[in-house]
Amino acid sequence: MKAPICQFCLESEILCSKDQARLDASQITKLDIEVSRQLYKSGRAVHTLESVELFRTEELGDTVLAIVESQRPLAIDEVEKINRNASAGLHRDLKLIELKAPQNKILQELVLPKRVVSHSSLWLPDGSRYIRLRLSEGDGTPKPSFLSKLNQLSKGLLDSEVVIE
Ligand SMILES: [Zn+2]
Repeated sequence: MKAPICQFCLESEILCSKDQARLDASQITKLDIEVSRQLYKSGRAVHTLESVELFRTEELGDTVLAIVESQRPLAIDEVEKINRNASAGLHRDLKLIELKAPQNKILQELVLPKRVVSHSSLWLPDGSRYIRLRLSEGDGTPKPSFLSKLNQLSKGLLDSEVVIE
Protein backbone atom coordinates (compact mmCIF):
# COMPACT_ATOMS: atom_id res chain seq x y z
CA MET A 1 0.00 0.00 0.00
CA LYS A 2 1.16 3.52 -0.81
CA ALA A 3 0.28 6.43 1.46
CA PRO A 4 0.91 10.17 1.76
CA ILE A 5 3.44 9.35 4.51
CA CYS A 6 6.59 7.22 4.28
CA GLN A 7 7.00 3.60 5.33
CA PHE A 8 8.69 4.57 8.61
CA CYS A 9 5.76 6.79 9.56
CA LEU A 10 3.25 4.09 8.58
CA GLU A 11 4.87 1.63 10.95
CA SER A 12 5.67 3.89 13.90
CA GLU A 13 3.76 6.14 16.28
CA ILE A 14 5.95 9.14 15.56
CA LEU A 15 6.63 11.15 12.42
CA CYS A 16 9.95 11.50 10.62
CA SER A 17 11.21 15.08 10.25
CA LYS A 18 10.26 15.21 6.57
CA ASP A 19 6.61 14.18 7.13
CA GLN A 20 6.42 16.37 10.26
CA ALA A 21 7.45 19.32 8.08
CA ARG A 22 4.75 18.41 5.52
CA LEU A 23 2.17 18.26 8.33
CA ASP A 24 3.34 21.65 9.65
CA ALA A 25 3.03 23.08 6.13
CA SER A 26 -0.53 21.62 5.81
CA GLN A 27 0.50 19.49 2.83
CA ILE A 28 -0.93 16.53 4.74
CA THR A 29 -3.43 16.44 7.60
CA LYS A 30 -3.59 14.56 10.90
CA LEU A 31 -6.52 12.63 9.46
CA ASP A 32 -4.43 11.59 6.42
CA ILE A 33 -1.83 10.19 8.84
CA GLU A 34 -4.39 8.44 11.05
CA VAL A 35 -6.16 6.83 8.09
CA SER A 36 -2.86 5.87 6.39
CA ARG A 37 -1.75 4.00 9.52
CA GLN A 38 -5.15 2.37 9.95
CA LEU A 39 -5.32 1.17 6.34
CA TYR A 40 -1.75 -0.09 6.64
CA LYS A 41 -2.75 -2.12 9.71
CA SER A 42 -5.89 -3.36 7.95
CA GLY A 43 -3.69 -4.52 5.06
CA ARG A 44 -2.59 -7.49 7.18
CA ALA A 45 -6.15 -8.80 7.15
CA VAL A 46 -7.32 -7.40 3.82
CA HIS A 47 -4.71 -8.21 1.21
CA THR A 48 -6.45 -6.32 -1.58
CA LEU A 49 -5.07 -3.18 0.10
CA GLU A 50 -1.65 -4.05 -1.34
CA SER A 51 -2.64 -2.56 -4.69
CA VAL A 52 -4.11 0.61 -3.16
CA GLU A 53 -2.61 4.09 -2.98
CA LEU A 54 -4.16 6.57 -0.56
CA PHE A 55 -4.06 10.17 -1.80
CA ARG A 56 -5.97 12.12 0.83
CA THR A 57 -8.87 12.00 3.23
CA GLU A 58 -12.02 14.09 3.54
CA GLU A 59 -14.58 14.31 6.31
CA LEU A 60 -18.19 13.81 5.28
CA GLY A 61 -20.21 14.49 8.44
CA ASP A 62 -19.26 11.64 10.78
CA THR A 63 -17.78 9.69 7.89
CA VAL A 64 -14.19 9.72 6.68
CA LEU A 65 -13.61 9.36 2.96
CA ALA A 66 -10.33 7.78 1.91
CA ILE A 67 -9.60 8.90 -1.65
CA VAL A 68 -7.60 6.12 -3.28
CA GLU A 69 -6.48 4.65 -6.53
CA SER A 70 -6.04 0.93 -7.00
CA GLN A 71 -3.70 -0.75 -9.48
CA ARG A 72 -6.57 -3.10 -10.20
CA PRO A 73 -10.22 -2.16 -9.79
CA LEU A 74 -11.63 -3.34 -6.46
CA ALA A 75 -14.85 -5.33 -6.30
CA ILE A 76 -17.58 -3.66 -4.23
CA ASP A 77 -17.46 -6.47 -1.65
CA GLU A 78 -13.69 -5.92 -1.33
CA VAL A 79 -14.30 -2.22 -0.75
CA GLU A 80 -16.90 -3.09 1.89
CA LYS A 81 -14.48 -5.45 3.61
CA ILE A 82 -11.78 -2.75 3.71
CA ASN A 83 -14.35 -0.21 4.97
CA ARG A 84 -15.52 -2.53 7.75
CA ASN A 85 -12.02 -3.44 8.85
CA ALA A 86 -10.65 0.11 8.83
CA SER A 87 -13.79 1.59 10.44
CA ALA A 88 -13.46 -0.82 13.37
CA GLY A 89 -9.87 0.27 13.97
CA LEU A 90 -10.54 3.96 13.42
CA HIS A 91 -13.74 3.95 15.55
CA ARG A 92 -15.30 6.03 12.77
CA ASP A 93 -17.16 5.20 9.63
CA LEU A 94 -14.62 5.03 6.78
CA LYS A 95 -15.42 4.78 3.08
CA LEU A 96 -12.94 4.08 0.34
CA ILE A 97 -13.51 6.09 -2.84
CA GLU A 98 -11.66 5.10 -6.02
CA LEU A 99 -10.78 8.39 -7.63
CA LYS A 100 -10.59 7.13 -11.21
CA ALA A 101 -13.44 4.62 -11.09
CA PRO A 102 -16.45 5.06 -13.41
CA GLN A 103 -19.10 7.44 -12.08
CA ASN A 104 -21.59 4.72 -11.15
CA LYS A 105 -18.95 2.94 -9.06
CA ILE A 106 -17.99 6.14 -7.24
CA LEU A 107 -21.69 6.75 -6.50
CA GLN A 108 -22.01 3.23 -5.11
CA GLU A 109 -18.90 3.68 -2.98
CA LEU A 110 -20.20 7.00 -1.64
CA VAL A 111 -23.45 5.49 -0.35
CA LEU A 112 -22.17 2.13 0.96
CA PRO A 113 -23.44 0.07 2.74
CA LYS A 114 -26.58 1.23 0.95
CA ARG A 115 -26.95 -0.06 -2.60
CA VAL A 116 -27.65 2.04 -5.66
CA VAL A 117 -30.63 0.51 -7.48
CA SER A 118 -30.62 3.02 -10.31
CA HIS A 119 -29.21 6.38 -11.23
CA SER A 120 -29.98 8.89 -13.92
CA SER A 121 -28.65 12.27 -14.97
CA LEU A 122 -30.87 15.30 -15.15
CA TRP A 123 -29.69 18.25 -17.21
CA LEU A 124 -30.83 21.73 -16.25
CA PRO A 125 -31.34 24.56 -18.78
CA ASP A 126 -28.15 26.25 -17.56
CA GLY A 127 -26.14 23.16 -18.54
CA SER A 128 -25.56 21.96 -14.99
CA ARG A 129 -26.38 18.41 -14.08
CA TYR A 130 -27.99 16.53 -11.21
CA ILE A 131 -27.57 12.84 -10.61
CA ARG A 132 -30.73 11.18 -9.31
CA LEU A 133 -30.07 8.10 -7.22
CA ARG A 134 -32.48 5.45 -6.09
CA LEU A 135 -31.23 3.36 -3.18
CA SER A 136 -32.32 -0.09 -2.08
CA GLU A 137 -35.37 -0.36 0.20
CA GLY A 138 -35.02 -0.42 3.97
CA ASP A 139 -31.91 1.72 4.07
CA GLY A 140 -33.53 4.55 5.97
CA THR A 141 -33.30 8.18 4.99
CA PRO A 142 -29.80 9.64 4.92
CA LYS A 143 -29.26 12.55 7.34
CA PRO A 144 -29.41 16.08 5.84
CA SER A 145 -25.79 16.66 6.96
CA PHE A 146 -24.74 13.56 5.03
CA LEU A 147 -26.64 14.69 1.94
CA SER A 148 -25.19 18.18 1.92
CA LYS A 149 -21.63 16.86 2.29
CA LEU A 150 -22.35 14.14 -0.28
CA ASN A 151 -23.29 16.93 -2.65
CA GLN A 152 -20.12 18.90 -1.99
CA LEU A 153 -18.08 15.81 -2.65
CA SER A 154 -19.93 14.69 -5.73
CA LYS A 155 -19.48 18.20 -7.13
CA GLY A 156 -15.77 17.87 -6.54
CA LEU A 157 -15.46 14.27 -7.73
CA LEU A 158 -18.14 14.06 -10.41
CA ASP A 159 -18.86 17.70 -11.20
CA SER A 160 -22.50 17.11 -10.32
CA GLU A 161 -24.98 17.33 -7.45
CA VAL A 162 -26.69 14.22 -6.20
CA VAL A 163 -30.36 13.89 -5.35
CA ILE A 164 -31.56 10.79 -3.50
CA GLU A 165 -35.11 9.76 -4.28
ZN1 LIG B 1 7.91 9.79 7.22
